[in-house]
Amino acid sequence: MSWETSADLVVVGSGVAGLTAALAARRAGLRVVVVTKDVPEEGSTRWAQGGIAVVLGDVTGDTVGAHLGDTVAAGGGLVDAVAAGAILRAGPAAVAALRAEGAVFDGAPERLARGREGGHSAYRVVHAGGDATGAEVERALLAAARREELTVLAGHAAVAVLTGADGSVRGLEVRDADGTAGRLAAPAVLLATGGVGGLYETTTNPAVATADGWALALRAGATLADVEFVQFHPTALFTGRSSTGRAPLVTEALRGEGAVLRDTAGASVTAGVHPLGDLAPRDVVAAAITRRISELGAEHVWLDATGVPDVAARFPTVAGACAAIGVDLAADPVPVRPAAHYSCGGVVTDTRGCTGVPGLWAAGEVARTGLHGANRLASNSLLEGLVVGGRAAEDITAALAGPRRLAAAVETATAPVPVADRRVLQGAMTRGAGIGRDAAGLAAASDAVEAASAVRVPRTRAQVEDANLTLAAHALLAAAGSRTETRGCHVRHDHPATDDHWQRASSTVVLDGDGRLHVGTTDARHGGVA
Ligand SMILES: Cc1cc2nc3c(=O)[nH]c(=O)nc-3n(C[C@H](O)[C@H](O)[C@H](O)COP(=O)(O)OP(=O)(O)OC[C@H]3O[C@@H](n4cnc5c(N)ncnc54)[C@H](O)[C@@H]3O)c2cc1C
Repeated sequence: MSWETSADLVVVGSGVAGLTAALAARRAGLRVVVVTKDVPEEGSTRWAQGGIAVVLGDVTGDTVGAHLGDTVAAGGGLVDAVAAGAILRAGPAAVAALRAEGAVFDGAPERLARGREGGHSAYRVVHAGGDATGAEVERALLAAARREELTVLAGHAAVAVLTGADGSVRGLEVRDADGTAGRLAAPAVLLATGGVGGLYETTTNPAVATADGWALALRAGATLADVEFVQFHPTALFTGRSSTGRAPLVTEALRGEGAVLRDTAGASVTAGVHPLGDLAPRDVVAAAITRRISELGAEHVWLDATGVPDVAARFPTVAGACAAIGVDLAADPVPVRPAAHYSCGGVVTDTRGCTGVPGLWAAGEVARTGLHGANRLASNSLLEGLVVGGRAAEDITAALAGPRRLAAAVETATAPVPVADRRVLQGAMTRGAGIGRDAAGLAAASDAVEAASAVRVPRTRAQVEDANLTLAAHALLAAAGSRTETRGCHVRHDHPATDDHWQRASSTVVLDGDGRLHVGTTDARHGGVA
């Protein structure tokens, strides 16, 4: 059994980037279908806690230039300052548009409350429900989608971007939970598939974050860049020795309010490590915690938030997660350790989501615009999803404004590809490509993934995800192996110094027609999109 339908634009993903783009494109008059593999609200967006970093002009002394400076400083030399400046400058309008959709932020409507997170030199993070910003963003966007009668095809996993003989996009192939295939003929596809946390044993990401967008884009002929830069959140809740999968996040905003990190011997974790101490950029704090855990043979460090006034009321999500493991946030130190959190790299795009493959756009965490470089500044990602999602919709609308090419039907049989056992892959990636890497560990991870792979045609959602994780793991390992230096979130024990040779070089990964990955470099300031 299979079915076929058509649209002007197919958006893959119903998080902040996908819904922002879909709503804007629908309002511009396009026939839009949003495809999402789980229930519409599932994705990283709804779990976001800290907020949205944006300069609204009402905080004395703070400027977009200062925000850009912090972004560049966090990004380890690989931020594309032109792209980043364009995205950050567009922030106020994007947040205003989100508020117009009904999103309600903390504070007075005319002067929103602000938080401060690691790497930020000012209080500039707007938040909702204390630490439930993402839930409010997702709620507001889904409510708008219902108002606009946006077509959302839930429970359907994108399996392949369909392309014609000329390489341009013709549509999308999807499968439902039973493996039934469907085809959406469309001249434009936007990937907004989110992150890659599923590559690792422990992650803050929900189960849908299985790097699908990387794999879909590679197979459609797009380029990935900076994929070795996986940010590990310094403070995921440690819920017990055998815990794997999604680990609740303990937001950085707590440290912004005065919570402190101590090791299991009672000493500060970051003293003498960085001038910003516990508010240093994430890679610095995560590496410091990892080092201390390994030196002490501990399983976690402590985050002490007992001195934060009204902490449980102001951070209800964290308080709830702590309560579930018997910890009182207001009275007890909280056990935390780093977990895979955010993909700084991804599908190479410009700030309008354009990938260089005709008809293919990408936005949100799946994309690499140059905003994050080697390490994302906290709370810049929801903003990027809002801005680039909106701009991609404008670009797609303009691209489709001319005479529309009728999407000719393309016969594709889903090809057999290597599919690894997920547990083995996650274990190999955690050991070999986590915080602290070396050539031998990366090679061992690659061998382990290969040995655990069988070539087959993926049919169910789980098999499709496993195939995507397999390709994504090889892409990440290849990029990480080629970067023989330490920079941002990419820490190489065998190359502990930053190397000037890589100062402006982004690694790129492409897939050839025989299924082989090729790693190269490009100037980080241009990102490689023509
Ligand atoms: C715990 C946590 C806290 C965070 N806190 C913050 C914060 O405070 N501030 C901030 O800026 N950022 C934060 N982030 C990061 C931010 O939430 C994400 O980067 C952002 O929400 C990603 O949005 P997105 O639209 O790109 O993807 P997502 O919101 O992850 O949505 C991805 C969508 O794609 C769908 N999908 C994936 N693959 C397929 C497929 N093959 N077929 C069909 N559908 C598919 C998923 O089902 C989902 O609907 C946090 C992340 C986490 C996990």
